[in-house]
Parts: sequence; structure tokens; C-alpha cells
Amino acid sequence: MMDAGQKPIVVVSKCLGFDVCRYDGAALEAEYMQDLAQFVHLVPVCPEVGIGLPVPRDPIWIIQTNDGKRLVQPTTNKDLTDLMTDFAERFAGELKHVDGFILKSRSPSCGIGDCKLFDAPSLDRQIGVADGFFAAVLQRRFPDCAFVSDKGMLDHQVRQEFLQRIFASARKRAVNSME
Ligand code: SF4
Repeated sequence: MMDAGQKPIVVVSKCLGFDVCRYDGAALEAEYMQDLAQFVHLVPVCPEVGIGLPVPRDPIWIIQTNDGKRLVQPTTNKDLTDLMTDFAERFAGELKHVDGFILKSRSPSCGIGDCKLFDAPSLDRQIGVADGFFAAVLQRRFPDCAFVSDKGMLDHQVRQEFLQRIFASARKRAVNSME
């Protein structure tokens, strides 16, 4: 039996049942979180609230520009790229130990490879898909960690693979801490 210190540590998008922090103020259900919380130490975070955006808020988008991808809020003309990148880097730097991430799909901040990418400046033509800005930094900073979306957690095989990886990672941490 694992003690609390050996539980896998998993960062989760806060809107997955922990807080009503989505842009539209809607609540999301993630029933598996309650079961997971018995065996895993969950660390909820909402990067959009983390950079000071209110709830509810106008949507933000990922656009392709000549200077690369940018995270923008068209209704306010705000470019949030640097704010979000700085927040993500700081958050990653403060994580002492982590074994995995469960992130909200299709969010321009949290999405893993499934966010709409629009062309600039028209904003009305999707030209591809991209990682959310928060998720992109985390994947770069933690290349050995398991990442899964909320949608992936609903797929039996994907969920099993994720759980195997985070428990293996936690066991490895426990062994390393004894050396
Ligand atoms: S998807 Fe990420 S940024 Fe959006 S509300 Fe959820 S936690 Fe916040």
C-alpha cells in the first residue's frame, strides 16, 4: 500500500470539477476525479484565471502570425502570449514533483494538440490545430511525464495507460528518494 508521500502527483485543469472557472462560467463534470482523488494527489490549476482573466470572460484564440503563434483576445485586442507563457514557466518551475497531467481538451490554454488554430488577421478561417499555450510549456518542461486530456480519460485503454504511467513514475520517485 502506498503512503501519501508516494501517491502520484497529477496536475489537472481546474475546470474539471474543481471550480467554475471556464470562460462561459459553465460547470463541468468529471466524475472520475472523485475516484482518482483517493489514490492520487491532484493539483488543480486554471492558467487563464492565473493570468488575471475574469469569469466569465470573452473567448481567447490561437492565431498564426508572421511572428509565430499568438494567444489573443480579439474583443479586447489583448495579446496574452507573454503573460500566459510567463505564468506557465513560473508554474512549471514551482512544481517540485509531478507524475502526470490531465488537461481540458480544445482549450487555447490547456488543450493538448487539439486547439483550433486560426489565420491572422481574419480570425474566421481555421488553418490547423495546435497545443494550448499552457500545455505546450508543460509538455516541453516535463517530457517524461504522462499527459492526457479529459476526453482521453473517458477511453478505457487511454485511461489505463495513463494510470500505469503515473503509478510507475511515483514508484520510481519513491525508490530514488531512498537512495
Ligand atoms: S481549460 Fe484551462 S484555462 Fe480553461 S477554464 Fe479550464 S483550467 Fe482554466
